[in-house]
Order: sequence, then C-alpha cells, then structure tokens
Amino acid sequence: MKKKNRWILTIGILVLISVATGIFYRQTVQSTTQENVVLSKEDHIKRDLSVAGKTYQESVNIAAIGDILIHDTVFLDAATADGFDFKPMFSHVKDTLTKPDILLANQETILGGVELGLSGYPTFNSPREVGDALIDAGVDIVSTANNHTLDKGEKGIQSSMSYLSEVGLPYVGSFKNAEDQQRLRILNHNGINIAYLSYTYGTNGIPVPEGKDFLVNLIDKAAMKEEIHRAKDVADVVVMSIHWGNEYQRFPDSIQEEIAHFIVNEGVDIVFGHHPHVLQPMEWIQADDGRKAFVVYSLGNFLSGQMWDFKDIGGMVSLDIIKKITPTGSTIELANPEFNPTYVSSSGQRNYQVVPLEQAGKYGLEHAQSKYEEIMGHMTEPLKKAD
Ligand SMILES: [Zn+2]
Repeated sequence: MKKKNRWILTIGILVLISVATGIFYRQTVQSTTQENVVLSKEDHIKRDLSVAGKTYQESVNIAAIGDILIHDTVFLDAATADGFDFKPMFSHVKDTLTKPDILLANQETILGGVELGLSGYPTFNSPREVGDALIDAGVDIVSTANNHTLDKGEKGIQSSMSYLSEVGLPYVGSFKNAEDQQRLRILNHNGINIAYLSYTYGTNGIPVPEGKDFLVNLIDKAAMKEEIHRAKDVADVVVMSIHWGNEYQRFPDSIQEEIAHFIVNEGVDIVFGHHPHVLQPMEWIQADDGRKAFVVYSLGNFLSGQMWDFKDIGGMVSLDIIKKITPTGSTIELANPEFNPTYVSSSGQRNYQVVPLEQAGKYGLEHAQSKYEEIMGHMTEPLKKAD
C-alpha cells in the first residue's frame, strides 16, 4: 500500500471510531437523562439534604427504666445449680427494652457478688449476674448514685464498678477514684453525643468516707452546675439520672420540682427520676434560655420484690432527640415521649417476671386493663397540659 492510501485508511478508521463513540456517548447521556426524569417531586421532598442550605438531620431514640432493686426473694428465685440467672425475669419485655437506641437503668443495689455476702433489705448486695441480665436485656448504661450506694461501703462500690468495667456496662454516679468521677460518660449514636450524669439526695445516713467524695455523687447545686456546664460544652444533649423524692408518693414534691428547674436551667435536657418506688408523671419544662426539657419524676421499680400499691408497677420511658445541622449551626429538639408500663409478676415470692402491664392479666394481675389505663393517664396527663 502506498503511504498516501495508508493515511486515508487510518483517517477513515479514526472517523468511524469517533462517530461510533459519539453515538454511544449520546445514548449514555440520553439514558442518564431518562433515569433522572424518573425522580418524582415526592422523592425530592423526602430528602433531608437540601442543596441550597446543606441542612440535614439525625435522630436517636433514648430510654430509661426504673429501679433494679434486688430483694433476697428475687435473687433466691434466680439461683441456679452453679450461680444465678436473672435473664428469664426480663424475657417478656426484652422486645420493648431492645427497641430504643440507648437504654439507661437505675442499678439501685450493689453488685458485689457472693464474695461480699449476698443480702437483701435494708443493706443490699446482689449477685453480679444482675449486670449480665441487664446487658442481655439491652441496657446500655446504669446510674449508680442512690441511697443504697454505700450499703457495703467502699469495698462494695469498688467490687461493683470493677465488675461493670469488666463486662463493659458503663456506669455513672459512683466511681472508683477522683479521676473516674471527672471522666464524662458520653454515648454517641448517629452523630449525636449524649452525656449522662447521676446524683442522689443521700445514702441512708451512711457517711461518705472522709476524702472519698468520688464514691457517690450527692446532690449539691455547685457540683451539679459545674458538671452540667462541662458536659454541655462537649455533648449535644445532657441527661441527668437523679435519685430524689419521697417514697410511695405518686406525685413530685416541691423540692423535686425546684431541683428539676434548677438543673434544666443550667443545661440539662432530659431528667430521669428514681427512688419513690412508684411512678410519678412526665412533663415538659421550659428553660429560661427557651429550650424545652423533658422530665419524668419517677420511673418506679422496674424489678424488685416489693408488691402492691403501685410498687410492682414500673415501665420504660422513651423519646426522640432530633439534631438538625444547618450552615449556621445545629439545633436539638426533643419529641415523641412514650411510656410503656410494666408489672412485676410473681407467685408466692417465686417466678419473678417483668411483663407489659397491658398483658399482666395473663400473669395474675386483676383488672390489668383498667390499671393500664389509669397508669397511662397518670404518666401522660401533665405532658398534654404543657404541649
Ligand atoms: Zn432509692
């Protein structure tokens, strides 16, 4: 072939290739365009990401249950051939407890185990297997500042805290040392940081050992204010689990209300109350800076050997934390508080089981449906008023 002809052939092939590529390219563009057309207006609205403002939102559902108060009748019922098993006691509520993203329980009794000598009322020491059952049931963190924290002295606290660290169940409210007390407990879910704090009104008259204030957080406005501010600096939301109020009273007293307003104004967003052994209502509190905070005054007993007069009724409270991020900053909104009441069923101080209150008729509770309705009204009425 002559040089000239070879050039013509080469140019011809190149032209063919570019035409073919052009057709292919056009088809690709067309099909992409066609795919784009498929996006409906509805699909577009559903997006949280706005091109103009780059605003998006995340949410986390957090929850809490009341006192885990292990009387001797309860641990005797959990005894097995080689230890203790409390897991069956939670099996009927496990579906409920594992639903929220983060669940707190108030571990009222020391988990010092058999080495410290097990005991019930009035100075409790419980099997360590209680902690295993809480983890199994979906509990993510326990508050440990309460009137029974010093029941077995420093030894009990150290033993309990070591066990919880060993099994990986975060605790807050009583601590191993001063450094441990200073370390904030912040749990993160979907990019939302939640700080957990815990305080108690007292320790049943047992004095805190000299120079060892870290063993238990006692309600003290200056200390609370300092820690709330420290938590607020690094977390999106501050949660306070607090031990307060009068036993067996179904409504909060003026001291609880005063403390609730104080901690909310200092920066607490969510208050989970414990101690009265019975349920006290939920309500919204408006903070001075405009935030809407959530308070449940008492979550009652979740698992205990106490019976009758509402002492065997507890429950799980849950609510959503919604974080919106915009180019100018982020905002936090609390929404959708819910309450799931529960009942501790037993027969002759055996076969302890936490069951949904609505279904408690099957487990021997008379008038379960009307009790369920009464409890739901009791817990939610003040919430509706402020909404
Ligand atoms: Zn208590």
